[in-house]
Amino acid sequence: MDIQQTIKRLEQVTGISNLNFLSKPNHVHTATLVVNGNEYVAYRIQYNNDRGPYKGGIRFHPMVNRTEVELLAFWMTIKTALVDIPMGGGKGGVTIDPKLLSEESIQKVAREYVRSFNNILGVNIDIPAPDVYTNPQIMSFMLDEYELINNCSEPGMITGKPLEIGGSLGRDTATAMGGLFCIDEACDRLGLKDARVIVQGFGNAGSNIAKLLYDKGYTIIAVSDSKGCTFSDSGLNIDLLISHKQINGTVKGYAEDLDNIFSLPCDILIPAALENSINLDIAKKVQTKLIVELANGPVTTEADDMLHERNILVIPDILANAGGVTVSYYEWVQNKTGLYWDATQVNNKLKLCMLKALNTVWDLYEVQGRNFRDAAYTIAIKRLYSAHKLRKG
Ligand code: GLU
Repeated sequence: MDIQQTIKRLEQVTGISNLNFLSKPNHVHTATLVVNGNEYVAYRIQYNNDRGPYKGGIRFHPMVNRTEVELLAFWMTIKTALVDIPMGGGKGGVTIDPKLLSEESIQKVAREYVRSFNNILGVNIDIPAPDVYTNPQIMSFMLDEYELINNCSEPGMITGKPLEIGGSLGRDTATAMGGLFCIDEACDRLGLKDARVIVQGFGNAGSNIAKLLYDKGYTIIAVSDSKGCTFSDSGLNIDLLISHKQINGTVKGYAEDLDNIFSLPCDILIPAALENSINLDIAKKVQTKLIVELANGPVTTEADDMLHERNILVIPDILANAGGVTVSYYEWVQNKTGLYWDATQVNNKLKLCMLKALNTVWDLYEVQGRNFRDAAYTIAIKRLYSAHKLRKG
């Protein structure tokens, strides 16, 4: 479903008849980055800032295109409203395969990106962060370039930085930690005990959620990454699996190899890779009770409706993975005040924020009689609509 169709559906779901202001981004910025004689297309899309400065990550991936970045920027707008942080939504991307580039070239791409978009970024304007295939080191190069160009110290212009240059404790594990708070609460509400879990994707979000769940006593029976899947009926040792991936570059080969993990029976399925991983066909086959979207957009709209019919609860991305941007907001607050918090403070605040959002959505879901995503969107859209009305009348 594209943004226009989503807006139509949301007008129906929320009963608000004029959501036109959310049907397209405020600004679309594009550039061509020239690095070592190669040209890469780059985007920064500023979707909406009615509730605060534009906020959202930058991804480096060969599939990046304008439509995708626009949708991701729209989702950021909804996400920040749902967890009620004073920020808007934006997203960036470069169409590039960083796996084929040297570290030196990646650094050049990062610096070139900031040079191209310097005028439209800023601590009170638009604050990037990591996303797919970008990381704290890339954020460091981007901050360095920004401060060189503008002759200033402005750590809050970007989040997801290393601790040494103004990052926040807890930011590296924040997406997974937010997901864990949702999973624990959902298991309580659904009466799920000794849950068996499958994790699709073993990047930042996937590996951290597997580790956090494993440490809490959940049984992780299968994990996949872009190269393959590994399975153990009695549960994988995630500490050993992380070492295996560090040595071999994949989870494959750690335990029993499988072609596919989606049709295995489990209690919780966590897609933590890319968009559209669970389509209608897969949604008909999954054997799970709960899906927690740690990636952005992993379940297609048709699949979502099918899962609802099949009584499988889906905690949507705009809630399940909002821990990342929430701790990015905490990082920005710390940078602006110059006062830094310990890990317990960060995680306690994150827990309160996530549970408040989850419980608000759950209460509405129970009375609204639609799917969980519709309830989450309803809450976010109402906040966005009233901020917009207050500004524009
Ligand atoms: N890229 C992450 C997301 O999609 C984090 C964004 C941020 O921290 O600004 O939510």
